[in-house]
Amino acid sequence: MSDVVNRGRHVLVFCASSGSCAPAFHSAAAALGRALARAGDTVVYGGGAVGSMGALANAALAEGGRVVGIIPRFMREREWAHTGISELRLVDDMQQRKREMLAIADAIVTLPGGSGTFEELFEALTSKRLGLFCKPIVILNQSGFYDPLFALLKSSVSERFMSEEHLEMWHAVDDVDHVLPAIAAASPWPEDALRFATR
Ligand code: AMP
Repeated sequence: MSDVVNRGRHVLVFCASSGSCAPAFHSAAAALGRALARAGDTVVYGGGAVGSMGALANAALAEGGRVVGIIPRFMREREWAHTGISELRLVDDMQQRKREMLAIADAIVTLPGGSGTFEELFEALTSKRLGLFCKPIVILNQSGFYDPLFALLKSSVSERFMSEEHLEMWHAVDDVDHVLPAIAAASPWPEDALRFATR
């Protein structure tokens, strides 16, 4: 897909705040930030300054990209917010943050992370299941990090808590270079997904 087609797209990235994880996770976040900036995409993320979040934002900015952070006021008060990004949006709480993130996103990328990343991913997946959010969701399964999650989701299907169709809600890639192509290749999600939301 050419840069011209991509221009103006808001790509929402869920990733870790941890500064203690293996440096390779921060490197992948930085590589994604650079790739998005080069493609002319705006990076939307949680607005943090540290960990994979900081690496993503700093790399996109260094490449001349636009970065929008959406962060609850209580986190900014604790000086967790990145002070050098293009736009920092302050919201009242975690719920409003996720609502605003999903409202602005043209695509979502989830990198390895902790409970905060999982919470954001599952909000997006559940919204997609209900037809409230229909954009591509790409999960970077770096070093097999998400293998246990995919196994759990598949067992949710085999136990008939979800349908086979729900396995199409996300696209997994194992290399950060494959993230943008996966967004471009993602199959459309039906707006009437509510029709098959329950089994
Ligand atoms: P996790 O994957 O658990 O590191 O969660 C990332 C999410 O945790 C972010 O989107 C925030 O909700 C929250 N978070 C935790 N620590 C920070 C921090 N130092 N700066 C910004 N956000 C943070």
